[in-house]
Amino acid sequence: MADITLINDAIDYFVENDPANKLPDGMKIFENPLLGFVDAGDPIFREFKKEEVVGPLFNLPEEWLPGAKTVISYFLPFSEHVRTSNYGGPPTSVEWLHARFLGEQFNQSVRKFLLGELEKLGGEAVVPALEDNYFADYDKFSSNWSERHIAFAAGLGSFGLNRGLITEKGLAGRFGSLITSLYFPPSVRSEGGVFENCPYYADKSCSACAKRCPSGAIRKEGKNKAACNRYTRVEDHMHEIRLQFEYDHSVCGKCQVNVPCEDRIPGR
Ligand code: SF4
Ligand code: SF4
Repeated sequence: MADITLINDAIDYFVENDPANKLPDGMKIFENPLLGFVDAGDPIFREFKKEEVVGPLFNLPEEWLPGAKTVISYFLPFSEHVRTSNYGGPPTSVEWLHARFLGEQFNQSVRKFLLGELEKLGGEAVVPALEDNYFADYDKFSSNWSERHIAFAAGLGSFGLNRGLITEKGLAGRFGSLITSLYFPPSVRSEGGVFENCPYYADKSCSACAKRCPSGAIRKEGKNKAACNRYTRVEDHMHEIRLQFEYDHSVCGKCQVNVPCEDRIPGR
């Protein structure tokens, strides 16, 4: 059995010390991460192949890595500086824009770093998001892996009305995952259901994300991905500024900040 503490300490050290975890203004993008582990053979992965979950193109862990034993998921929470920068508006803050793109670039480094750590421990490992056959098509809403669903499977949290994954450090941040041939004991997944941490589903006492959404994309049935995509990728409301930095599309994130689930589970 591999030692969870080694991986935990390694990712903490990397996130705290790597110089790429910084915005152009020198402030930190991410705080220390959360880690979760799930058995690669957990039946939940077959559920993800259903049309209404991730979809039939979702690849099982053993389809990425034959002999897979564990899937590791992590959450990188955005720093307070990044989160509070986007409290007002629209428009989206420039800090949030950088945090989305430079943050995902850093997230790729975290994935590669963990891959190396698992190999040092003597295991094989695959990062779906780094594989040539990985895809996430934002126009067709189709993908063969889903970081948020993996995080749910690994016990990191549950979904909110805005379809973010609400962890004990909230939902504003980025997720990543790896599949390994090493065995790590699985984290405990709550039995409270897929929406356990969002009060909207308990008693409708919160719908703050819907009120903050500038495109009307968050409705009682959840997030309308097409409306959100239209706002960020078709209307491209940050067109000029994002071109200055050569970023691919506009971003928003208003539903992730200045809301009760921004950096915690509401009520806790
Ligand atoms: S803002 Fe409120 S309703 Fe929206 S996801 Fe967060 S907790 Fe749920
Ligand atoms: S990212 Fe923006 S447009 Fe998309 S759902 Fe959230 S608040 Fe609405």
